[in-house]
Amino acid sequence: MRTPFRRGNPGRPATSGRLRAGALLLGATLLAGVGLTACGSDSDADSAVPSTSASFAPGTTMARLHDAGKITVGTKFDQNLFGLKNLSGRPEGFDIEITKIITDALGIPRDKVNFVETVSANREPFIQQGRVDMVAATYTINDKRKKVVDFAGPYYISGQSIMVAKNNTDITGKDSLAGKKVCSVSGSTPAENIHKVAPQANLVLFDGYSKCADALKNGQVDAVTTDNGILLGLMAKDPGTFKLVGGTFTKEPYGIGIRKGDTAFRTFINDTLQAAYSDGRWAKAYKDTVGKVEPNTPTPPPVDRYTS
Ligand code: GLU
Repeated sequence: MRTPFRRGNPGRPATSGRLRAGALLLGATLLAGVGLTACGSDSDADSAVPSTSASFAPGTTMARLHDAGKITVGTKFDQNLFGLKNLSGRPEGFDIEITKIITDALGIPRDKVNFVETVSANREPFIQQGRVDMVAATYTINDKRKKVVDFAGPYYISGQSIMVAKNNTDITGKDSLAGKKVCSVSGSTPAENIHKVAPQANLVLFDGYSKCADALKNGQVDAVTTDNGILLGLMAKDPGTFKLVGGTFTKEPYGIGIRKGDTAFRTFINDTLQAAYSDGRWAKAYKDTVGKVEPNTPTPPPVDRYTS
């Protein structure tokens, strides 16, 4: 495995500065006696009031987090549509909206949800070390990861695909990658899988997919491979620069990563996701984020209440 351009430290935590302008604005507006509804996905995020009357069995993670009134969540900071830090320093995207559904159900105010950056390679260690209470980060559920962490969900199914420069004509899919420089991210399932489906490809690894997109733009690599939704997010940020080839060739069920063995918390998150599937909150989360570039809202996948 080659890592010629690898930069950054996957173990590095990166906390987000939390500017509470939305909450302050809401407070000021209520004082003035004027109702304020959502003014964009950003401000509604922090002004909504979750149910603080929720009560949980003593000793559970839910009770601990509810009583603390705060939570630390690992997510991506560089993935348009899923988890992308905006100009005010807060991440937004589908994973963030799914997180809000869960933290609302825990009765945690939205301005007390502390998002920290997790890159692909440090999600399991961050959960194992208790540096985060949960991870929502385009995180594929698989057996290898289930040995060290547990997953609620899935709440979305993606699939691995390939992105090349718009004018590229020689790469048409996974079968034309032999001898090509293919960029992916350390610790990700697509980086592992590409060894199997295109063993002759020269894998180039970074710690984030936005760096792969830059390398593709600069001609340092010939292709980028990861989940199609992430690639669509990169394409949407740079219109007319890239294209997808060859369709999808894996199934990537996204789960919420939590500490291994915390079955009560996993069940709670699964119940919460299922409720959000039925009452339209999941569909709204999708439409407000990924749905902006992939407008056909999929049917949410059934949660997997696995026992082993
Ligand atoms: N879903 C894949 C994974 O969990 C790729 C996306 C990512 O690296 O976050 O590894």
